[in-house]
Amino acid sequence: MLIRGGTVIDPAQGLHAVRDVVVRDRRVTALGERPTPAPGEEVVDAHGLLVVPGLIDLHVHVFYGASHYGIEPDPHCLATGTTTVVDAGSAGAFTFTAFRRYVIEVSQTRILPFLNIGATGMLSADVGELEDVRFIDKARALQTIEAHRDLIRGVKVRLSRQQVGANAGVALATALETAAAARLPLMVHVGDTPIPLDDILRELRPGDVLTHCFHGREQGVLDARGRVRAEARRAVGRGVHFDVGHGVGSFSFAVARGALAQDLRPATISSDLHVYNVHGPVFDLATTMSKFLALGVSLDDVVRMTTAAPAQALGVPGELGTLAPGAAGDATLLRLEEGAFPLADATRETLVAGARLVPVAVVKGGVARAASLQQPRLPPVPVSRPYG
Ligand SMILES: [Zn+2]
Repeated sequence: MLIRGGTVIDPAQGLHAVRDVVVRDRRVTALGERPTPAPGEEVVDAHGLLVVPGLIDLHVHVFYGASHYGIEPDPHCLATGTTTVVDAGSAGAFTFTAFRRYVIEVSQTRILPFLNIGATGMLSADVGELEDVRFIDKARALQTIEAHRDLIRGVKVRLSRQQVGANAGVALATALETAAAARLPLMVHVGDTPIPLDDILRELRPGDVLTHCFHGREQGVLDARGRVRAEARRAVGRGVHFDVGHGVGSFSFAVARGALAQDLRPATISSDLHVYNVHGPVFDLATTMSKFLALGVSLDDVVRMTTAAPAQALGVPGELGTLAPGAAGDATLLRLEEGAFPLADATRETLVAGARLVPVAVVKGGVARAASLQQPRLPPVPVSRPYG
């Protein structure tokens, strides 16, 4: 396949220029100027479009049919330009085998799961996965990780009151011990959390992920006077990875503006796409990227935060998140449209963006398809207490 004539933005290589991309046998084999296709080569016309490495969304929920949050990955992720997603804790030790067999292994979207430290995973909107301390189970989590070592990329703990009840301390400690024993990163979800943020940040190791980093609730990265917490700076300084995780209740333009103005930047832009936000305000990763363009982050940085940076967080730089020869043959074709586009955060603030990124086509493992949000095939949205 020849992806011809597009403007390639590949921050992993510091590249922003018109280039042709050749993909063969599911891999990028050449990146340069080669406008003439070889005999039999499929041509994808990218003139006037941006060609970026296949987008990576570090936080989604795709355990469709089992987790109340779950959306189907292919119509909502791959079809909107995201070739790789991290499922952030939809499955736990009791449910992971089904997630693997009935979702991960049959999806075109590449799904790299983080295992919930709560053994049920995210089954119920009414009962938090950590409310019963018997489900906070290091031994079962480690057994599951060892059985699925080829697939599981991290451990997840959600620390909102709705999920942990009275068990925040034991949940965080167990998740940290499990991640350390398994030599994997820990992703911590914060917001309406009984433990002060500074105390959580002090525990996080280099490579761990703080998701929902710009939530608009109490105990955010900004203190009561709107200044970036010293502990947040120290965490970023030692390599803790701040992730956006937009979600339905976890992203505030005001907090993002305040943090960016003080030069606290997220490492990765992710959507936290799930049933409760796929019809707005999140829609998809490209829309979340557009929000950061509107906040003044450069196009190259927005692309880095959805390609090279998440690949780094997942320990797969060079394999994913780049179009360097040898990398997986994944690319996303985007159109940068100018106009006036109202975009909402999770606190009902709307800003009018002067530009937006629209997915046009996606190439996964050397197979191209047009990007389009298919009609969602979802059950009626349950009325419950969504959070996250
Ligand atoms: Zn989430």
